[in-house]
Amino acid sequence: MTETLRNWAGNITFAARSLARPRSVAEVQDLVRAARKVRVLGSGHSFNRIADTDETLISLAHLPRRIDIDAAAGTVTVDGGATYADVAPVLHAAGFALGNVASLPSITLAGAVATATHGSGDANQNLSAAVSAIAFVTGSGELLTLRRGDTDFDGAVVNLGALGVMVELTLDLLPDYDIRQNVYLGLPVPALIDNFDAVMSRAYSVSLFTRWQGEAVDQVWVKALAGGDDPVEDILGATAATGPCHPIPGLDGTVCTGQMGVAGPWHERLFHFSIGNTASAGAELQSELFVARADAPAAIAALFRVQDQFSSALMISEVRTVAADKLWLSSAYGGDTVGFHFTWKPEWDATIAAVKVVEAALAPFNPRPHWAKVFTLPPSGIRPHYKQMDAFRDLADRLDPAGKFRNDFVTKLLFD
Ligand SMILES: Cc1cc2nc3c(=O)[nH]c(=O)nc-3n(C[C@H](O)[C@H](O)[C@H](O)COP(=O)(O)OP(=O)(O)OC[C@H]3O[C@@H](n4cnc5c(N)ncnc54)[C@H](O)[C@@H]3O)c2cc1C
Repeated sequence: MTETLRNWAGNITFAARSLARPRSVAEVQDLVRAARKVRVLGSGHSFNRIADTDETLISLAHLPRRIDIDAAAGTVTVDGGATYADVAPVLHAAGFALGNVASLPSITLAGAVATATHGSGDANQNLSAAVSAIAFVTGSGELLTLRRGDTDFDGAVVNLGALGVMVELTLDLLPDYDIRQNVYLGLPVPALIDNFDAVMSRAYSVSLFTRWQGEAVDQVWVKALAGGDDPVEDILGATAATGPCHPIPGLDGTVCTGQMGVAGPWHERLFHFSIGNTASAGAELQSELFVARADAPAAIAALFRVQDQFSSALMISEVRTVAADKLWLSSAYGGDTVGFHFTWKPEWDATIAAVKVVEAALAPFNPRPHWAKVFTLPPSGIRPHYKQMDAFRDLADRLDPAGKFRNDFVTKLLFD
């Protein structure tokens, strides 16, 4: 490849020999038929080699954008290259909404779905759970549509890019809604441990941001449905912020979605970062581990005990809740889950050392890593936590018998 292609964070240089940018589904089918090994690159926001291949990478960014709303069915069908930033304003303008989003809008829906990307909220599932149908270009170049209720559907949604090219996705919609966002500062950790459920259940979506330093969580972000109770003055000793906050203390809060309790449309409040603004820090690495929701207080206590061993490598950490789903490779398969996310300074060795400390601290809780972020847990420590792992491998063998869509990353993780 003549151009050097890197992921969003810059820590991965893709090894692909070529990058193809097809302009139609028929072109995607031709590319797949001709390829020996092929992967799709979404918006490149993953922090590991999940999207890479040493042969053909396909970007769907140049497919004609498709955002077809079926108002009667309450669904939207989008092409495989569409981003949340493309889709969300169109849905809002038509009076519709998604139930949940991630922290930033610039990722593709397909990339988010493939990796079980999530936001927060006790009743909010992974973004993948909103999908009701997917059209794949499979290894033979044929089109295959799987719909919710089909035998293979629950296995095919969170697919790590290993089943085929998702050229079309249909998602469930909600009627448009407004959110009011308030940030609270300085929640004492002991109060959080004793009241985890009460804190996280106090609104539609709640996130905790902490640097794991001292005795308090830095910020509590509360995203409440507008029209509910008035915001409270404090949460267990955490006091209301008096200006816009960035999750990373000291950075400019005005790049974030509106705070201070001013109600606004879902897509201007549920993302942490506004459409069109640079998300997060930019130069950073990320890791995330999921444990059963019921273990959250003990997991927080375990991280609190070792915080001095990893906090110097950290920019910020986010704790979020995710509701259970039925998708085989979802981090919330079969049970409500809590995610411990870490944004690390862009120093690889220090990050890996810190990731290992966190993985060891959470080991008693059988942690599952985010598929798209940095982790050091071996495959043998991950696969047993996915009850349908063997069924997924069978599905991949059927849809892609030649293993065209397998790269080193997924082969080692899932198939070896
Ligand atoms: C600043 C930042 C904030 C983030 N915030 C969150 C967050 O709030 N919650 C969270 O859970 N994660 C978060 N992530 C991780 C992010 O959601 C995942 O990395 C997601 O996969 C990114 O989507 P992408 O379009 O960049 O996919 P890529 O990284 O390009 O690809 C991810 C995987 O999807 C596959 N894929 C992509 N498109 C297709 C397709 N059309 N067909 C088949 N396979 C496909 C790729 O092959 C690859 O395996 C964040 C990442 C960054 C950089």
